[in-house]
Amino acid sequence: MMENVQVGSPQVANGVVPVPPPLPGPTTSYNQKGLLMNGSPLRGYSCVSTATKDLWENLFDSGYKADVIINTDYDGIIYAHANILGIASPTMRGILKQSKCRGRRRSLSIRGVPPNAVKVFIRFLYSSCFEKVDMEDYVLHLLVLSHVFAVPRLKRECECQLEQGLLTIENVVDIFQLALLCDAPRLGLICHRMILRNFKAVSETEGWKIMKQSHPMLEKELLESMIDEENRQKERVRKLKDRKIYLQLYEAMEALVHICRDGCRTIGPYDKDFNEDQAPCNYAACKGLELLVRHFAGCKLRVPGKCIHCKRMWQLLELHSRLCADSSACGVPLCSNFKDRMKKQGKKDEIKWKILVEKLLRTKTIGGAPFFVKGTF
Ligand SMILES: [Zn+2]
Ligand SMILES: [Zn+2]
Ligand SMILES: [Zn+2]
Repeated sequence: MMENVQVGSPQVANGVVPVPPPLPGPTTSYNQKGLLMNGSPLRGYSCVSTATKDLWENLFDSGYKADVIINTDYDGIIYAHANILGIASPTMRGILKQSKCRGRRRSLSIRGVPPNAVKVFIRFLYSSCFEKVDMEDYVLHLLVLSHVFAVPRLKRECECQLEQGLLTIENVVDIFQLALLCDAPRLGLICHRMILRNFKAVSETEGWKIMKQSHPMLEKELLESMIDEENRQKERVRKLKDRKIYLQLYEAMEALVHICRDGCRTIGPYDKDFNEDQAPCNYAACKGLELLVRHFAGCKLRVPGKCIHCKRMWQLLELHSRLCADSSACGVPLCSNFKDRMKKQGKKDEIKWKILVEKLLRTKTIGGAPFFVKGTF
């Protein structure tokens, strides 16, 4: 419809005529502030001129040769043109076909929404434009009207406006229900997310209370999805915690090899003399581990399993041995003894260790660590 009335669009005939410069005057111009068209604010050059838009809006405002009367609530009357309504909305065309004639005019009713919202809706059918303030006031009604009368352009526009800021804690429950009714899945999803994220505030709104009474099933579903979301959140936190523990353990494994092979601060390497002036140590786990190793060497409590520090050391040594690729080079005490023992160990124990080792290796890519076995699990 609009293509036939473009005034300022450059045209090239037979591909030889040069593109003419823009016409002087207001025919193609910068549009009024605040007007929106097809989802974007009208700013700068537009191929639909202000004059074109004004022409269509004038036709609507003046009701010149109008042949349709639209009755709204509060005895409101809007004059319109059947050919424009019928072209803009297939549903409207069907209704007009069956509507009664009153003299030369046909009449139809749009009730249950504020008369002004109907006016903004019909105006959009003429010019594809609306004022920002009207959209803010009537976005819910326009969404319903555009769905009922099958005007996808306006429906998209309403969804877009809601997404970009008109959706609030106060109205999100209403819009969520409308999105379900009006078959707007993306909008529904966005509302759902907003409800879950702001559950406490949303559940205190008027909208929630009304939904609770009119659609108890929907409330139940929302509560259930809230619980699911909380569980997912807990699971995420648990996984992060696990990951941190495995990462620390992995670092302890690296530090253990570093202490035993190279020596650090107070402990010399296994095969060389202790070097007094060493480079500063980069292993965060080193200090704690060093204390543990020193304790292990001198612990007076010789009863196996009685000292928690020694028990921890035994576990670290065994874990090391399971990760170690070369017992002859690592310098870690008892590494090969554990490897021998492993062969005799029961299946059940073996599986437990394997899972731990696998998790450790997965936590950190081993690219940079030369002393651990790779990819054997
Ligand atoms: Zn160190
Ligand atoms: Zn001890
Ligand atoms: Zn080793």
